[in-house]
Amino acid sequence: MNLSKKLILFLAFQAFLFTLAITSFVYYYIYPTYANLEINMAQQSLKQITLNLKNDAQQFQQFGTGWSIWDEMASYLQTNDKEFAKTYLTAHALEASNFALIAIYYPNGKMMTYSRNTDADSALLIPKFMKSMYTLSAPLIKIDNNVPYEQQGHYGYSLIGNKVLMISINPIYASDPSGAPNGYIMFGRVLDKKIWKKIHEDTGTHFTLSSFKSAPSTIQHQLKNKAKTVITQQTENLLTTYALLSDFSNTSNILITLNTHRNLFQKAQENVKNFLLLGIIAGIMFVLGALLFMNFVILKPIHTLQNQMSWILRNKKFRPIHQFSKTNDEFSDLTKHFNSLIQHVINQNKALEDLSLTDPLTLLQNRRSLDQFITTLGALVQREEKNISIIMIDIDHFKLYNDTYGHVQGDEIIKKIARAIVHNASRLSDFVARYGGEEFIVIFPDTSFQAAKAIAQSICKEIENYKIPHKTSPTSTNITVSIGLSSALVGNKDQILKLLKDADDALYHAKSDGRNKVYSLIENNNDSK
Ligand code: GH3
Ligand code: MG
Ligand code: MG
Repeated sequence: MNLSKKLILFLAFQAFLFTLAITSFVYYYIYPTYANLEINMAQQSLKQITLNLKNDAQQFQQFGTGWSIWDEMASYLQTNDKEFAKTYLTAHALEASNFALIAIYYPNGKMMTYSRNTDADSALLIPKFMKSMYTLSAPLIKIDNNVPYEQQGHYGYSLIGNKVLMISINPIYASDPSGAPNGYIMFGRVLDKKIWKKIHEDTGTHFTLSSFKSAPSTIQHQLKNKAKTVITQQTENLLTTYALLSDFSNTSNILITLNTHRNLFQKAQENVKNFLLLGIIAGIMFVLGALLFMNFVILKPIHTLQNQMSWILRNKKFRPIHQFSKTNDEFSDLTKHFNSLIQHVINQNKALEDLSLTDPLTLLQNRRSLDQFITTLGALVQREEKNISIIMIDIDHFKLYNDTYGHVQGDEIIKKIARAIVHNASRLSDFVARYGGEEFIVIFPDTSFQAAKAIAQSICKEIENYKIPHKTSPTSTNITVSIGLSSALVGNKDQILKLLKDADDALYHAKSDGRNKVYSLIENNNDSK
């Protein structure tokens, strides 16, 4: 598997883990947190509503209390004064105080009189309500003289159909609010549209009051059995929160229902969705960025390195790798290390080649090297003709020398002769090689016949002057050499090879002409020293 695939797999795995973590976080932490927050808020609202309703009823009751210590009212109960009724108990008077009803009771709870407002709600509700209110009984008219008279009354809400009535009942006293009351007075107010609007504005919510019995049975069950005052049900879009409001006569309960849209939760979902979308885009960009980075910073340098290495291996041409990394990073280090390795191979190859081109005894070039040199020189003269001279040197009667002085001593002579040749053919361009056992060759590129001849004669003379004893030589008492010389203007390799042959022929002539001399076919005569 290549690096890109590995990286893609790694990033995909990371993305999977990340998505798993985020999804778990969203579903197990964020959503429940928001849902709980929403439920708490709805339940707080409902508690607030319940409190507001109770406060409103209490205020209504306090208002009623103001009517209770009232001598005229007390005497009205006894005199049934028509004037009093006309002033305070007419529909008009009720309307002015926004009462739906006023009912006056004797101390025994029997109704003396009641009047009601003439508006549509009152016309519909009050008669129905009053049917059960012709006689008041405990606990509505139970008086406890141990509590102040302001608190002796009774108040609350009553549900008739789908309308809600706020009720307050207070004992009537003459100026002294102690002992038994003179009677009772009941006020009622319909929670009409105007009042609803006000309550809704005060609480900032929209709720409904309905009969407890109209609630779903599961809710009834929970509210009753679990003794919870607030219960919440949730759907995707709506939270429905329920609470109980005690009926003023404590006979049946009123259900407060608050429906709240799950704006917070939906907003959270939307935010999470946007966040995830952004995350996905960022993730994709990150992956693309990482791949690009990987490609430019890692893969491309590796490929460059790989290409250069495989070129070297394919062509077997060892040369330093091009330093492609501009910065001082791992790749430039790697290239440096590769290059030192390659340099090592180059050096070893060079040493091997040198070894293969060198004669181990004399350290001169060998026959193989001569072949290469002739090929190179052939190419050179092909571009521009050159006068080349060649000399072939052979030790005279060397077999006899070996026979006389031994092979080891013979080797020493070969080395000495080699040094003498190098000493004379000392120009950098002169090519000196050991041609065979005791034969040597010197090629002088770009050298005239005369100049080469002079060097050849100098070699001959120098060796003779060494005066190395060779007692069995028929030619001299010392070691001598014979030299064949050739020289010509050449323009290709074949002409050089021909020149080589000429030098060899000349050497043959030198031998047959008495040895210890330089011979050339050109002069066709004996060029002795
Ligand atoms: P000529 O004057 O005709 O050249 O006579 P020669 O004896 O030198 O010629 P020949 O070709 O008969 O003998 C060459 C001898 O060189 C044979 C061999 O013993 C000797 N020789 C060749 N290579 C080496 C070497 O590496 N070391 C030694 N010690 N002798 C060698
Ligand atoms: Mg020979
Ligand atoms: Mg010889």
